[in-house]
Amino acid sequence: MLMEPFLPFAERTCPRLSVVVPCYNEEDVLLMLEARLSAACAEQVGDDYEIILVNDGSTDRTWPLICVLAERNPRVLGVDLSRNHGQQLAVTAGLQISRGDRVMMIDADLQDPPELLGAMMAKIDEGADVVYGQRVVRHGESVVKRGTSALFYKLLNRLAEQEIPVDTGDFRLMTRRVVDQLNAMPERFRFIRGMVSWVGFEQVPLQYERDARAAGETKYPMRHLARLAIDAITSFSTVPLRIASHLGVLAGFAGLALLCWAIWRWFENGVIVGWTSTIAVMLIMGSMQLIILGVFGDYLGRLYIESKRRPLFIVRELRSQTRQGRQAGIDPMTGVPLGLAALDAHH
Ligand code: UDP
Ligand code: MG
Repeated sequence: MLMEPFLPFAERTCPRLSVVVPCYNEEDVLLMLEARLSAACAEQVGDDYEIILVNDGSTDRTWPLICVLAERNPRVLGVDLSRNHGQQLAVTAGLQISRGDRVMMIDADLQDPPELLGAMMAKIDEGADVVYGQRVVRHGESVVKRGTSALFYKLLNRLAEQEIPVDTGDFRLMTRRVVDQLNAMPERFRFIRGMVSWVGFEQVPLQYERDARAAGETKYPMRHLARLAIDAITSFSTVPLRIASHLGVLAGFAGLALLCWAIWRWFENGVIVGWTSTIAVMLIMGSMQLIILGVFGDYLGRLYIESKRRPLFIVRELRSQTRQGRQAGIDPMTGVPLGLAALDAHH
């Protein structure tokens, strides 16, 4: 059976399995990835799968390579985004285009072994809706990265309203009803693993050892990780806003105490010169106010950006054996501009 991924939505056949892979400058691993991934898929579902390789604005030969793979393998679907959108939006694009009854998300770098697909499928057969990979050992990651990651999950779980499992990445297998829910979530700041937990249903871990990158280097310098962490916290919690007002109350009490002390000193006739203490209080209060304003500003900025409701991603081109070179920004399945409008057409 030759898949026709770009038929109008209603006519396109739904494979049993879709695999979504975000690829950013992954030319060194792509061939290895495709070989191992398609072997793992074939073992589980025979021919009935699709691999969606999303090129997230790579600057190396990732896209030409994806085109070659798509030409060679009828089950590979290449998606070329118009620019670098970031991993979470690249995955979002893949999830929206995917049609499988079950969808696996996996990084391109083979840190997460595709061979675990069998174990994940088994858990879904037993009734789970989401099987998320949980790392028990991580090879090739620095102590600093592991430490900050542990700290981040602790903080996130203190702040967020629903539990977000520790030590997970985006490596997971989900049923169609979960993916449909994800696709219906319009937010721009996407912390996908948190959004998946939020959906609910039966979610079970699958523990595994995380390998080092097969080749190439990490696309997440600390700076980007910090941004992802802030996105995660602000998307799932408004506690920082509350902390800000608690700080205000605290500062109020401290100020009152200081005032009492000053008045008492005045009665005692011991009015002090007091320049240093005045300046100190002013500086502390000033910086506290700025921090609080900054937290408010961050939420406000997010509100502003979300309110524009721009499409989450823009597709330049799609490649498979059956079709190639579609118009930029148009959903190949519906003819609707890609992004939010496509959601309505899909549901
Ligand atoms: N990635 C992406 N866009 C980006 C950065 C990364 O699509 O802007 C992809 C990358 O190609 C890989 C996955 O996201 O498939 C995870 O990246 P990486 O392995 O570098 O992160 P790490 O495992 O080091 O946290
Ligand atoms: Mg990696």
